[in-house]
Amino acid sequence: MPGVYVLVEHDRGEISPAAFEALTAARNLGQLLNEPVSAVFAGVFDSIFQTVCAEYGISDGVILASPLITDYGPELWGQALSQLCRERKPSVVMSVGTDKGNEVLAQASARTASPFVANCIQVQQDDGWAITRTQWGGSLLEDVRVSTEQVYLSYAHHAIEPEPAPLAGDVDIQTIEVDLDPSLTRTLVQERAGQAEGATLSTASVVVSGGRGVGSADAFAPLEELAEILGGKVGCSRAVTNNGWRSHADQVGQTGTRIAPEIYIACGISGAIQHWVGAMASKNILAINIDPEANMVTKAGYAVLGDLHEVVPAVVEEIKKRRGIA
Ligand SMILES: Cc1cc2nc3c(=O)[nH]c(=O)nc-3n(C[C@H](O)[C@H](O)[C@H](O)COP(=O)(O)OP(=O)(O)OC[C@H]3O[C@@H](n4cnc5c(N)ncnc54)[C@H](O)[C@@H]3O)c2cc1C
Repeated sequence: MPGVYVLVEHDRGEISPAAFEALTAARNLGQLLNEPVSAVFAGVFDSIFQTVCAEYGISDGVILASPLITDYGPELWGQALSQLCRERKPSVVMSVGTDKGNEVLAQASARTASPFVANCIQVQQDDGWAITRTQWGGSLLEDVRVSTEQVYLSYAHHAIEPEPAPLAGDVDIQTIEVDLDPSLTRTLVQERAGQAEGATLSTASVVVSGGRGVGSADAFAPLEELAEILGGKVGCSRAVTNNGWRSHADQVGQTGTRIAPEIYIACGISGAIQHWVGAMASKNILAINIDPEANMVTKAGYAVLGDLHEVVPAVVEEIKKRRGIA
């Protein structure tokens, strides 16, 4: 039966922000294809799932239940999704291209021997599928044609603005018991370490990042102070993590975290392509750099040309003065 099935990403029942992008994209795709949309949830956390479906205008939900799904496991989630898709044969199975979304869709598509196109930004049905997707961390757009009836798709993370569309009626939720291979628990999350409280680098509304121009681990103190008074997080470039000034968890970029804050303040960062692809979804970018020709300066909406060791403390001072903070 045709239809669009969208995987709702969550962490032990807590819906991840990427799921709102996925639900918005699925709703739009369902309208484009004139096909019904079903949300799919792996696990046993039905009440929040129902609320989210209703908020995003999805009237049909499926819970894939198994006593083996006690946490996130790409193989278990992938096998569960593949069982549903083998039985129901939807036209599109989709998610957002986060690590989890891409992992689960890769697992499910391989099990159903269907093509999987990751990190799409545009999808059309045209004698098969005509898809545009990002490659090389967003620096290349690739046009893809797929001739199968069924396709697995992930939408590029941060390419879609989540848009709730509250449902007038009820959400019909069906729970399906899936029969999973116990050996697949080998890739189930067992424990978590160092989980940050509050906003993370990828969800923060303000990110203050430092690059090689900062000069040392200790010299990040003014950036930390700026991030703190703006309620943001501190990020960095790979030059910084390579020098051991900050941990890899703070790195922005192709091999770090992709961010989409309201404001990105890049201090002493040249804006190499591998850094830029992780920062380019920021709504506003302020570059602080001594080099007027630096990529980050020419690409940013706002720039201050000057020594960050003078500019950042001066900005902190000015904000404190205006807020009446001693
Ligand atoms: C496969 C691969 C993956 C990569 N992944 C990533 C990634 O995920 N993230 C990432 O960041 N990089 C990544 N890189 C590295 C990337 O190519 C760059 O080398 C790196 O981003 C440069 O970091 P930077 O801008 O801090 O340093 P630099 O390029 O050395 O730039 C330093 C900047 O600081 C400015 N500056 C110096 N002193 C001051 C001062 N006092 N005040 C103000 N400005 C000053 C300079 O003008 C310059 O623009 C990757 C590279 C490869 C090959």
